[in-house]
Amino acid sequence: MTHMAILLAGGSGTRMGGMVGDKTLIEIAGRPLISHSLLAFAESKSVAGFVIVIRDNEQRKLIQKAVAQIGLQLPVLYTTGGKERSDSVRAGLDLLPSDTRFVYIHDVARPAVSAQSIRAVRKALENHLCATGLAHRCQDTLREFADNPLESAASGRCLDRSKLWHMETPQAFPRDLIEMAHANLKLAVTDDLAAIEALGKPILLVESLLPNPKLTRPADLPIIEAILNKSAMSNTHESPFRIGFGYDIHRLQKGRPLTLGGVLIPADVGLVGHSDADVLSHAIADAILGAVGCPDIGHYFPNTDASIAGINSQRILERAVQEAAGHGFKLINIDSSLIAETPRIAPYLQQMKATLSRTLQVPESAIGIKATTNERIGALGNAAGIAAQAVALVSR
Ligand code: MG
Repeated sequence: MTHMAILLAGGSGTRMGGMVGDKTLIEIAGRPLISHSLLAFAESKSVAGFVIVIRDNEQRKLIQKAVAQIGLQLPVLYTTGGKERSDSVRAGLDLLPSDTRFVYIHDVARPAVSAQSIRAVRKALENHLCATGLAHRCQDTLREFADNPLESAASGRCLDRSKLWHMETPQAFPRDLIEMAHANLKLAVTDDLAAIEALGKPILLVESLLPNPKLTRPADLPIIEAILNKSAMSNTHESPFRIGFGYDIHRLQKGRPLTLGGVLIPADVGLVGHSDADVLSHAIADAILGAVGCPDIGHYFPNTDASIAGINSQRILERAVQEAAGHGFKLINIDSSLIAETPRIAPYLQQMKATLSRTLQVPESAIGIKATTNERIGALGNAAGIAAQAVALVSR
């Protein structure tokens, strides 16, 4: 274990305005805040393990649960932090395994840190063997005041922003250097590069090219969540859209009711099935389930289950939409074709659209239904049954 990360998780989060209990464990982009930093370090393949500096044992249990949920494959050690930030860093340094040569110190309040940025820090550290850290250029005009300009008008002066940088984390160090810096530190510091500066040593910056903001105020939450969601999508090369396809066929029989698209159609033949045999609704349900990677409707409504005999297929469609929602997807639109030699379907298409629109909770304009015959070809052409095909588009 030559490279280890110390994650600072014990901060009080007082500036979050009492909105939340523990900033470290706020659910953001689908997982607790701390999990995002752990995953970014794991993906960067830059460290052999973690020391997490916690506030107390209660927090430790919750963090352990979060660590287990992401299936982290790297070892995690825990230690309790101190009153000042530097006390917490010292506690983390004390727990490093003896073979640690390089240390990354990261504030978990920066959950959007990317694996790419962490790798860039590692490269700089290995090439220069000095204190290094992520930072971005100052873009805003900076003005310094001697007196509080919120209370009354005060004289200010502009700082030269071309020489100013915003510090981020992680910051990374040769182990002996950061240990020496913290052992000798007399002042309170807000980052670890300041401890190096107090030793009179130079520091090397790595320009942070991807957004890595610090969660400080409640207003930061939606911004950071949007960054995390966007990077999750680009990391996995996953489109926000998915398409699914469904096909179904049922036999026609004299004396059975004929339900298509949730509409009872007067006819002397109807479809045979365990449910109401609504072949169109079944094809649509399979298209929706297929789009989100779920098994087909037989999995949810097996034809061996006597309790669902004759079930209204609109319930099946509702379930498909629910399953999609459970996987984080909503239905955008469907298109479908019915292949029926008899009866004539066209007069009922509008009523089917209205019914499916209510069931699927999408506008009628998002539902396509076409009806065609099979040109008297084959079994479908002989009116032995009715078939349906459907596609569904869903979005995250
Ligand atoms: Mg079916």
